[in-house]
Amino acid sequence: MALKERETVQDCPNCESRIIGKIGVERYYCHDCCVEFDGGESGGIYSIDDEGNLMSLEGDEQS
Ligand SMILES: [Zn+2]
Repeated sequence: MALKERETVQDCPNCESRIIGKIGVERYYCHDCCVEFDGGESGGIYSIDDEGNLMSLEGDEQS
């Protein structure tokens, strides 16, 4: 039942780097592979294109 601190910065889910910065509520940016990711249970990973648009890197579940 040991709960970890929610503020603890986690590893990048994409490249497992720890060189990440917090940019919002449960939102982090990896300086290694240049992606944003959610720190919550959703665990979404987003790349940022040259125009600053977020693109999901996983779960292209559009059918
Ligand atoms: Zn990364």
